[in-house]
Amino acid sequence: MKILKFGGTSVGTPQRMKDVCQLITDGERKIVVLSAMSGTTNSLVEIADYIKKKNLEGAGSVINKLRTLYRTHVSELYSKQENVEHTDNLLNDIFMHLHDLTTKPYSTALEKEILAQGELMSTNMVTNYLKECGIKVMLIPALDYMRTDANSEPDMSFIRENLSHILEKNSGYDLYITQGFICRNINGEIDNLQRGGSDYTACLIGAVLHADEIQIWTDIDGMHNNDPRFVEGTTPVRQLNFEEAAELAYFGAKILHPTCIQPAHYAGVPVRLLNTMDPSAPGTIINDQMQKGTIKAVAAKDNITAIKIVSSRMLLATGFLHKLFETFEVNHTPVDMVTTSEVGVTLTIDNNAHLANIVEELKQYGTVSIDENMCIICVVGDLRWGNVGFETLVTEALANIPVRMISYGGSNHNISFLIREQDKKAALCALSEKLFKDKNTAKK
Ligand code: ADP
Ligand code: ASP
Ligand code: MG
Repeated sequence: MKILKFGGTSVGTPQRMKDVCQLITDGERKIVVLSAMSGTTNSLVEIADYIKKKNLEGAGSVINKLRTLYRTHVSELYSKQENVEHTDNLLNDIFMHLHDLTTKPYSTALEKEILAQGELMSTNMVTNYLKECGIKVMLIPALDYMRTDANSEPDMSFIRENLSHILEKNSGYDLYITQGFICRNINGEIDNLQRGGSDYTACLIGAVLHADEIQIWTDIDGMHNNDPRFVEGTTPVRQLNFEEAAELAYFGAKILHPTCIQPAHYAGVPVRLLNTMDPSAPGTIINDQMQKGTIKAVAAKDNITAIKIVSSRMLLATGFLHKLFETFEVNHTPVDMVTTSEVGVTLTIDNNAHLANIVEELKQYGTVSIDENMCIICVVGDLRWGNVGFETLVTEALANIPVRMISYGGSNHNISFLIREQDKKAALCALSEKLFKDKNTAKK
C-alpha cells in the first residue's frame, strides 16, 4: 500500500483536482491525503482573526467571498447537475456552520474548528468527483483516527488502532481519500498538526501502516539544493538520507512540514517527493542510504532569537547546563542551537512566547543578553568529521557575512550558522555559488 499526499496547489482548481484523480486511479491500492485548496486555509485564518477582533462583518465578508468561489469550483468540477447540487448542498452546510461559528466568542478551539473546514471541503469535492467518474472510493474522516496526546504529539497507538480498524471494516476498496492537517486532541476537540501539516498526516499514516512508500506530491520537482524562493537556478536533489531530509525540513525547507520525516524514518518507510505539474519527473527519494562525500542542500529558518548567558562563576560547576536547559523545559520552549565557551553559553529558540520569563529566570545564573531577528542557515550532506575540508568550504562561502554562532559535529549530516535575518539571501546565494557552483545564480 502507498500513501500519496497532494498539497494545496495540487488541488487548487477544479482542473487540478481532475488531474489528481487521473494520477490516483491506476488500480494500485492507496490512501490519498488531501490538503485544502490553495488559499483556503489562509482565508480561514483571516475569518478567525476577524472573530478575534470582534469584527463580525469582516468575518462574514470573507466567508461570503469563499462561498462564491466554491460555488464556481463545484459547477466546473462535475458534469452532472445532480452532482453539482449534491456537493453544493454539502458545502452549503459547511458555510452555514462557519457563519454560526462567527456568533461564538473567540477561542483557540473555535479557531481550530474554523481551520479544519478547508480539508473537509476539498476531500468531499474530490471524492464526489471520483464517484461521478464511476470509481469505487471511500472517504475516511481524519477526525475518526488522527489524534494527538497530552503533549500535543501524535498518539501513534491510537492512530494505528483506529485507522487499521476503519480499513479492516472497509476492506473492499482500493482507493481511500482522507483529510490532511486536521486531527483531534486528547480531549476529543478538533485540532490540527500545524500549518503545512498534511505532509505530517501522510507520514504518520505511512508509518503506522508500514506502507511501501509515502509520496508527497507538490508544485516542484523534489527537494532543491537551496531555497528556490531566494536563489535562482536551484536544482532538485535526487536522493536524501532520512536524517538529511529531517534537518532540511526542520530548518526551513518549506516543501516538507518540519517534523514529518521523523515517523517515516522510525518506521523505515521511504518518502518520495514528486511534482503534480510534471508527474514523470523523478523527484527526490528519501531513504536510509547515505551518499558519501557530498554536500546536498542548504535551508534557512527565520525568526530565531539567540540568548547568551555569561557566568564566570557557574559554567564549570556541575549542573549549570542542566539548570539552563531546565529553564527552557519548564517554559515549554525547545532549543535549536547551542554553543559554549568557558565563560558563556548561547542558545537559540524559534518561539518567543515565553522569552520574558526565560530571561527573568536565567538571570539567576548569569548575565543575559539577547539577539532577535536572527536566522539559522543549515547546510546538509555527508559532514562526518573525517571528511577533511568540508567545513572550511562552507565557512569560506560566508566570508563576508557576520556569523553569530557555528554548530558542527552534533550529527554527521549538518553544519549550522546563525546570522542576521537581513543577511539570509546573501548567505544562501553565496553558499550556492560555492557549493553547487554553475548550477545556481542569485535571484535578481
Ligand atoms: P504544498 O502546498 O504542496 O504543501 P508547499 O508550498 O508547502 O506546497 O511546498 C512547496 C514549496 O516549497 C515550493 O513551491 C518551494 O517554493 C518551497 N521550497 C522551499 N524550499 C525548498 C526546497 N529546498 N526545495 C523545494 N521547494 C522548496
Ligand atoms: N491546509 C493546511 C495549510 O495550508 C495544511 C497543508 O496544506 O498542509 O497549512
Ligand atoms: Mg506544504
